[in-house]
Amino acid sequence: MKLVKDTNQPKEKRQQISDEKAEEAIKTIIEWVGEDLEREGLKSTPKRVIKAFKEYFKGYSQDPAELLSKTFTEVEGYDDMVVEKNISIQSHCEHHMAPITGVAHVAYIPSKKVVGLSKLARVVEVFSKRLQTQERLTMQIAKTIMNVLQPRGVAVTIDASHQCMTNRGVKKEDTTTITNYFLGAFKDDLSFQNRYLRYINKD
Ligand SMILES: [Zn+2]
Repeated sequence: MKLVKDTNQPKEKRQQISDEKAEEAIKTIIEWVGEDLEREGLKSTPKRVIKAFKEYFKGYSQDPAELLSKTFTEVEGYDDMVVEKNISIQSHCEHHMAPITGVAHVAYIPSKKVVGLSKLARVVEVFSKRLQTQERLTMQIAKTIMNVLQPRGVAVTIDASHQCMTNRGVKKEDTTTITNYFLGAFKDDLSFQNRYLRYINKD
């Protein structure tokens, strides 16, 4: 069994490689598939692809822990779980660079720190915009929330479709993959875990 490593930390590599060099690589691939680079419709394609890639992989230049650093004190005393459901995910698998699309559900039980709801979705976004495996993505989101907010527990579920599986290879169009990661009370206390699972299964 392959170990799921908890790292795909940014390496500052992108800064060293110019946009022009990356566009050259796209040109090579366009020619390699059998296309004519001079064709009208393809003239700006390498530029557009690089621009799109910057968006797909913008998570390397962002620090998810920093997003959670601003917390609220006025909701002090709230001690039940906060469940944020159906956070849409667009990521790319690290094996084929093919799209992964789906939803994430994130829950935590605050101990002292309560964070803005949009920040949970932003953490999901930052880790999604990197080359990923679904297992690691799930784990990174959970561990970051746990480390920064130090809540009583964190639960993360991702339900996603992998284009490397639906559009190629075994071509199972309707397959989705579900991954879970539980920490703290969600791991140790099944009543919390079961309530969370009930909430996320409700439409
Ligand atoms: Zn893949």
